[in-house]
Amino acid sequence: MDARTQLRAFLEQRIEAGETELVFERMTATQALAALEAAASGRRATAPGARSSDWRETLRAAGAEAPPPAAAPVQPEPHAEPPAWVPPPKPGAPAPTTAQARSGLSVGTDESELFGGPLAGVASLEDVAALVASCTRCPLYETATNPVPGTGNPRAGLMVVGEAPGATEDQQGKPFVGAAGQLLTKILSAIQLTRDDVFITNVLKHRPPLNRNPQPHEVQACSPYLLRQLELVRPKAILALGTFASQTLLQTSQSIGSLRGAVHRYYGIPLVVTYHPAALLRNPSWKRPTWEDVQLVRRILDSAASVGA
Ligand code: URA
Repeated sequence: MDARTQLRAFLEQRIEAGETELVFERMTATQALAALEAAASGRRATAPGARSSDWRETLRAAGAEAPPPAAAPVQPEPHAEPPAWVPPPKPGAPAPTTAQARSGLSVGTDESELFGGPLAGVASLEDVAALVASCTRCPLYETATNPVPGTGNPRAGLMVVGEAPGATEDQQGKPFVGAAGQLLTKILSAIQLTRDDVFITNVLKHRPPLNRNPQPHEVQACSPYLLRQLELVRPKAILALGTFASQTLLQTSQSIGSLRGAVHRYYGIPLVVTYHPAALLRNPSWKRPTWEDVQLVRRILDSAASVGA
């Protein structure tokens, strides 16, 4: 793909994602398009108002060819109608734009070897769980009732990552089995997945006392377990639930609002961010954006299946 075609694809993605203002550090989308147009006609950029109001037309006039289809195209609009738990769209609300989700942050290399860290020799998810059960790398094991390493399909296409076990999870030793977990089950069923299809885990494998926020040293101590789980399962997509898991995995302080709607990469694995089901229980108006986010996950899984990945 030549530079002009790449630029066209980039601008199209940004504008489709609603980001018309910030494209380059000192240039808006409008100015970039005007510059392209001017370059094509061999003159200096004119005032933005002088060019076509259709940015696609402007790009075409500038000589940029449509980009070739991507190797693993994201499928067109999703499957089912929203289920009953998803509130209807607000009147006049724009249609979801996730069909051409922008690419987001990228953490780690795209190589399939994730980290080769201290647990690289741990051969199975059961072995990871056994290590979690005897873990003393941070003090959380002292106050927890049970370790909560994670459950689900060892060959899952989707890995779901939450923050840390709550009280019910701590009692049962399983992730997302309380009220938020029941909502998570419904969210998954909206994209034709059961809990047995996916692998569900958390950034922290022991409950922080009184559900307090995880501390940085706890995250650091626990992260090799999650990384090894990812390496063993090798999912086609990761769904990060809530601010904490999203910011931790993507190593950013950006808000959920700005992170969602994009396909990020975690060691090459597509990662989608959405609201935590516990937050949805408090704020039902986030259910619709969450539904849109998981439709994006569905399309990523379908794309991976269609190229036999
Ligand atoms: N919230 C989480 O982030 N994880 C759980 O397992 C339960 C609630």
